[in-house]
Amino acid sequence: METLENKFLEVIPDKLENGILYISMGRSVAIHLCVCGCGNEVVTPLSPTDWQLKFDGKVVSLSPSIGNWNFKCRSHYWITQNKVRWSGDWDEKQIEFGRNSDKKRKKEYFDKRSIDPVVYAIPGKVDEDLQKVSILKRVLLFFGIR
Ligand SMILES: [Zn+2]
Repeated sequence: METLENKFLEVIPDKLENGILYISMGRSVAIHLCVCGCGNEVVTPLSPTDWQLKFDGKVVSLSPSIGNWNFKCRSHYWITQNKVRWSGDWDEKQIEFGRNSDKKRKKEYFDKRSIDPVVYAIPGKVDEDLQKVSILKRVLLFFGIR
């Protein structure tokens, strides 16, 4: 089983090496060279509607799986705890289904967002927003408003 090494960087380098998962939290993106060895760059944006990155302090997992249907190799795999777990090839129908459910997920998320003022965790923004909330809360408490 292939293993990737995770590298947290501010800026993703121009020249990528095989076997490394480059992660930029500031830019909310992870990039690696396709693990089949075809040399294609696989860009996985990190967002509530794209990929989610889990970092346990040592190794990372990406979810959902990565389907490189736009490449000739059509590799499909999971990156779980830095290990590559191969998944089956999809036929056109499954790819279509995957694309549609991705669209649906995005639509649901953005629809919900426009009516629901929930603060989603966006790297680099959350702390500031939380601070604003707590300052507002303190002010309200000071005036006895809850
Ligand atoms: Zn490939």
